[in-house]
Amino acid sequence: MCKSNLIPILLLLLSSCSLYIVGPQDHIVSSRNMNVCGHLKDSVILYAIFIDVNELHPFTQYDIQSTMDSVQKACNWIQKQADTNHVTLSIKPILHKTRGKLSFHERRVLARLSLRDIGTRKRRHYNHLMGWADKISRYASRGIKRQKSSKLGTKIRVNNTEQLIARLRDQYKTDHISLMFFINGYYERPRSFTFNSQTSSPNVEFSLITHKNPSDIAHELLHLFGAVDLYPHRQQANFNYSEIAEKYPDEIMRISHKNIDKLMLSPITKYYIGWENDLHKADTRLLYHLNNVTPY
Ligand SMILES: [Zn+2]
Repeated sequence: MCKSNLIPILLLLLSSCSLYIVGPQDHIVSSRNMNVCGHLKDSVILYAIFIDVNELHPFTQYDIQSTMDSVQKACNWIQKQADTNHVTLSIKPILHKTRGKLSFHERRVLARLSLRDIGTRKRRHYNHLMGWADKISRYASRGIKRQKSSKLGTKIRVNNTEQLIARLRDQYKTDHISLMFFINGYYERPRSFTFNSQTSSPNVEFSLITHKNPSDIAHELLHLFGAVDLYPHRQQANFNYSEIAEKYPDEIMRISHKNIDKLMLSPITKYYIGWENDLHKADTRLLYHLNNVTPY
C-alpha cells in the first residue's frame, strides 16, 4: 500500500471522536450559526454530568476529580485562544451534583446505554441514545434549582435535554450552555461523540465524553459551537484532507490525541465557531468534496 493511502487510514485509527452526522455530506457543512449553544463568545458554561453506565466501569472520586482537571485544562486552552484572537470569552466548567453526589448510575432512571448505540448511523440506535439522554437529563434536573422568575417559561418539569438546557440557561444567566455527559471509558476506550443539532438533528446539542484527555474535551466543546471534524472518517464529508493536514497539521479538529498545548485553531475552525466572519477562498476549497474541487 502506498504511503499516501496509509496516512488517512492511520488518522482514522488514531482519532478518538466523531461528530455524529446522519446521511452523506458532499458539500460544506453549514454548522456555523446553527447550534443552540450559539457562538463561542461572552459567558459560556461547560456543564458536566457524570453517569455510571452498565457497560463500563463506575467513576471513582479520583476519576471525577482528574477528569474535571482535564476539563479545566481544556477550558484554559480555549480561553487562551480567545484572548489571543481578541474574542471576549469567559468559559466556566460546572460539575453537576444530584443530592450531593458527583455521579449517579443510569439504572436510577431505568435507562441503559449501549455502546452499540453510539457507533452506528442506524436510526433505531440513534433514537435509543436520544431517549437515554432525555432520561438522564430528567433525573439530573433534580439537582438544579428552578428560578422563581423565568422569562423563558422554564418552570415546567424537565423531561428532556432541551428543557434541561433551558433550566441551565436560567440558572447561569447565559444562552451559551454546553452540556457534556461523561461516561467512564478509560479502559474500554469507546469514542467520544458530539450530537449536533444541524448535522444529526436532535433538538439540542450535547456531547458524550468517554475520556479525560483535555484535547479530546476541547475538541468536543468546539463541536458544540459549530466546529467540524477535519480528519477523514466514515461519517464525515470527504474533505480535501491531505491538503488540510499539510496546511494545518496541529489543528485541534484534525487531531486530538496530542498534548493540547501543541494544538491550534485554524481559520476554518475559527470561522465555524464564529470567531471569524468569512472563510477565505483557499480554505473554502479544502472543505468541498474532492470531486467538486475543480470549480474552485
Ligand atoms: Zn470530532
